[in-house]
Amino acid sequence: MTLVANAAVVAVGLVALMALPSAEGDESGDRRIPARAEPPGQGSPSAAEPPPFTATVESAREAGANELGLVPVIMYHRLLNKRIASIDRTPAQLRAELVRLAKAGYVPVTAAEFASGRIDIPAGAHPVVLTFDDGHPSHFALDDQGNPRNDTAVGIIYEVAAKYPDFRPVATFWVNRAPFGLPDRERQEAAVKWLVDHGFEVANHTYSHPDLRRLPTKKVAEQIVRQERLLKKLGAPPSRTLALPYGSRPRKGGTALAGKWDGTRYRFDAVFLAGAEPSVPPYAKSFDRSAIWRIQSNGKKGECRRWCSAYWLDWLDKHPDRRYTSDGDPEHISIPKRLRGNIISKAAKKVIAY
Ligand SMILES: [Zn+2]
Repeated sequence: MTLVANAAVVAVGLVALMALPSAEGDESGDRRIPARAEPPGQGSPSAAEPPPFTATVESAREAGANELGLVPVIMYHRLLNKRIASIDRTPAQLRAELVRLAKAGYVPVTAAEFASGRIDIPAGAHPVVLTFDDGHPSHFALDDQGNPRNDTAVGIIYEVAAKYPDFRPVATFWVNRAPFGLPDRERQEAAVKWLVDHGFEVANHTYSHPDLRRLPTKKVAEQIVRQERLLKKLGAPPSRTLALPYGSRPRKGGTALAGKWDGTRYRFDAVFLAGAEPSVPPYAKSFDRSAIWRIQSNGKKGECRRWCSAYWLDWLDKHPDRRYTSDGDPEHISIPKRLRGNIISKAAKKVIAY
């Protein structure tokens, strides 16, 4: 088989990505991706898991796999029928963007899945990370039947997933001290439980949303630990990711990634910024887990002429060779040969270069 000779199948150590110590209280080491969420009311047939697929040089080439390509991590704030700030989106704008992503073959993964390299999507599909900041009531609310309300972010994600079955309904919610604007502990707990049970990520966006650059290191750690303690009380697993309020990095950059306050330690897999480009994946040499780029969801006006989602999604459509395309096999990293030098030597995966 001459084709096999073309494959640089390199088994390398399972190091940086999986060996990070977990945050406080999580000794289990359980880093599995949550079961694929089904839209509410459809049940979740456990027998529906597809058999594992092993990529080959041929299959990677056929899929046009490029698992060192760029991934849009899209940042959303409030959903309002009448926008007030330029970063607000209407429910219709979110719906239209998600439909665009689904039609273009994007499949959502959570920020934690992305940062840990657990990008388990079909061959030929592109990962997208949908992230919602500040825990606004328009992101998630349950109706009287206990289902997500229609025009919330979660309601719209399910609506699109029902129409485009390959569009996996998951997202990341980075929340502060009053998740989803809910006033009482009981409803906050119910909201967090619903989201976590359905495969969504609920994680740390600091307790009171300060500009971390303006705080002394000790206060930065306090902001993170207070929020981590709240999330734990609400039943969320330890946060794997953090989004920086305003995208503003603490003066000691590493403080956002790991630290300690009042006897409680924290350590995230990844810290996310607020702008302004697609991100390289975690197997790329240029990946910096303390400062991961995101893209603001917005049109092409003003500052968004570049830097926002309408611009970047057009750009990725026009540059398919620069976009992350999956080989369909989460155990391998498949890349065109020309990119072999860009991969980290400690990637916890087998590499297929074609
Ligand atoms: Zn924020």
